[in-house]
Amino acid sequence: MIAERPLSALELARASYRAIALYAPDRTPCEIDLSDNTNLWGPPPAAAAVVRDAQASLLTRYPSLYAPVLKETIATYAGVSPDEIVTGCGSDDVLDSAIRAFSEPGQRVAYSDPSFPMVPIFARMNGLDPVAVPLRRDLDIDAERLLEADARIIYVCSPNNPTGTLASPRAIARVLEDAPGIVILDEAYAEFAGTGYVGSAAGHGRVLVVRTMSKAFGLAGLRIGYGCGAPELVAEVEKSRGPYKISAAAEAAAVAALREDTEWVGTHLDEALHVRAEFARSLAEIGLAPIPSRANFVLVPVPDAVAVAARMRARGVAVRPFPGLTGLGDALRITIGPRPMMQRCLDLLREALACA
Ligand code: PMP
Repeated sequence: MIAERPLSALELARASYRAIALYAPDRTPCEIDLSDNTNLWGPPPAAAAVVRDAQASLLTRYPSLYAPVLKETIATYAGVSPDEIVTGCGSDDVLDSAIRAFSEPGQRVAYSDPSFPMVPIFARMNGLDPVAVPLRRDLDIDAERLLEADARIIYVCSPNNPTGTLASPRAIARVLEDAPGIVILDEAYAEFAGTGYVGSAAGHGRVLVVRTMSKAFGLAGLRIGYGCGAPELVAEVEKSRGPYKISAAAEAAAVAALREDTEWVGTHLDEALHVRAEFARSLAEIGLAPIPSRANFVLVPVPDAVAVAARMRARGVAVRPFPGLTGLGDALRITIGPRPMMQRCLDLLREALACA
């Protein structure tokens, strides 16, 4: 008898995992980083003070199982009841947990293309088939095609990453009306748009609105995200998420931010919107056509985005290149930060394009 060769780790890995590429955008440090849509005005002061003065018990003891104080504080901030909130280690964790909670392996996740690139990865990680549905020419979601995918999960991102555009209320209503399963409405950038569905999520029953403290609240490093929906829906997401996902220090800092830093957040949010308008005008002046954005970033179609971004990065400004976006072609996604950063970005972009 021939001895059987032991299987390699790769052969032992779940078959559906082999097709998954590690999510690894270029994150090498850069002098000015406009690549990840975080808050470039710094951390909110009350939250920063909590981390700086953290008691030993925040480090040595386990955190609470499901972050009840954070849930209550988010509920007050969002104007909903605490049993309509589930938290997670970043909104990534909430999205992943929700997909797992409401589907069986082999079912489908329908999502718009282009949109948040983690969604098809989360679908595959949970054994589901991702179905990409191109955005319409006007960059609204294509409600009919999302529904036709017969997907157990329909993912809608509004404002959408990377286009910065809102899904129209009409298209969202259409998806909610006829979705065969759960609708995940990702509102990571809703504070910048000044609109959203948190308040009406629970009333619908089958929608989970997902938000984050990584963007407007400037706390991406603490990894705090949350979902809002009907109590029986968020309870399933919480099961899927599991206990101890919010560290004690992160919970304490996030609570402080929601209670004491909302004015700080509002001030920098307003500034981001002003700078965004100025930056868009400056881009138009150099002959570019940024997509009108409702988020804290702009998407700018440019030829050869990867090479342009590499030239800019070599000179100290990181922006995120998207080669060959469906319906749009090559583009750069640029986070909005304080004016001097945007001026430097503009100068380097002009030079990088001139070299093309
Ligand atoms: N959703 C969207 C649309 C995003 O752009 C991001 C981050 N880039 C996330 C969710 C995840 O954010 P976090 O895990 O930091 O909350």
